[in-house]
Amino acid sequence: GKVLVSGANGYIAVWVVRTLLEHGFSVRGAVRSADKGKYLTDYFAPYGDRFEVVVVPDITVPGAFDEAVKGVDAIEHTASPFHFKAVDPAELLDPAIKGTTGILESARKYGTSVKRVVVTSSCAAVMNISDKQQVLNELNWNDQAVNEVENKGREASPQAKYRASKTQAERAAWDFVQKHQNEPGFGWDLSVMNPPLVVGPVIHDISSPDALGTSAKMMYEAFTKPGAASGGGCWVDVRDLALAHVRALQIGEAGGYENGKRFIICAGAFAWQDWLDAAAPWTEDSDKYQKGTPGAGKEHVHLLQYKNEKSIKVLELNYRTMADTAEAVIADYDAKGW
Ligand code: NDP
Repeated sequence: GKVLVSGANGYIAVWVVRTLLEHGFSVRGAVRSADKGKYLTDYFAPYGDRFEVVVVPDITVPGAFDEAVKGVDAIEHTASPFHFKAVDPAELLDPAIKGTTGILESARKYGTSVKRVVVTSSCAAVMNISDKQQVLNELNWNDQAVNEVENKGREASPQAKYRASKTQAERAAWDFVQKHQNEPGFGWDLSVMNPPLVVGPVIHDISSPDALGTSAKMMYEAFTKPGAASGGGCWVDVRDLALAHVRALQIGEAGGYENGKRFIICAGAFAWQDWLDAAAPWTEDSDKYQKGTPGAGKEHVHLLQYKNEKSIKVLELNYRTMADTAEAVIADYDAKGW
């Protein structure tokens, strides 16, 4: 089948496209400009006409995806801003929410062959902040960030603005299928991916480490900037997340109309020091990489963790280890001459 992938030039999306192609799918990648599509057509040239680009200049415009959805069997909606630089919350909320409802509306009207839509949400839509230790699952929703943005507007924290954008965009997707599922001719269901911090090798168009996206840059800085490897979080390898996006299309019970079909895609919790330790076999002979205080990650208190059993059971994921990801990341930096 053919899959439309929005935001196809992004860090996660290029891995999603590649993994779809490797599994025999054809892909139509939507990007904001022809220029951004050029790298992709070159990179995926070995797949011949199984890969094509469509330009959708502004995902917030109603009907933006009306043409792009025609003739595809599924959609992977990954396009959404991920940064902590917004002043006006609408800078994040608008593209996140309107981009999601817009592509779903286009699929409803013109996606006559679409069977499933997968939305890339986030643990940002699951988490909340507390000074107690918590282990969250797919029943949790981040109303905290939404409330903060409602109450404080521009004064809300940059993180809350991003997290509210992901929570509201995902809610809007579930509301959309709930509302339209029984219409005559409505032919698709929904599956949602909720990853925490996404790390791992970079295959999208990046000229230098400065240009890395939010999550990959955090890892690069932990490895290369003195003192940056403090604190921690939860993580998943971008290759496992890409495979999850493929399994979400292949496995019937991965989709539905209720928000029971959201999946936390998380390998586990980390302290940044743990990454320096995991990479030691490949970094110990190099001055380029920080070593930190080996073993100190054990002292880190993980306030927030996630259950990943549902993704293992339904999507049949077998998560990579930190050693595997660390090896690939260092090999990637070395290959790029960073
Ligand atoms: P990238 O910044 O690498 O990719 C984001 C993609 O979305 C790009 O194609 C970008 O297009 C597009 N995009 C961003 N803003 C807009 C906009 N206003 N209008 C149209 N397109 C836009 O980020 P990631 O690959 O990291 O993120 C992809 C998805 O994964 C996002 O939905 C993000 O929320 C989610 N996610 C990411 C995590 C992570 O740790 N990386 C964790 C959890 C979820 P362009 O290049 O033209 O700007």
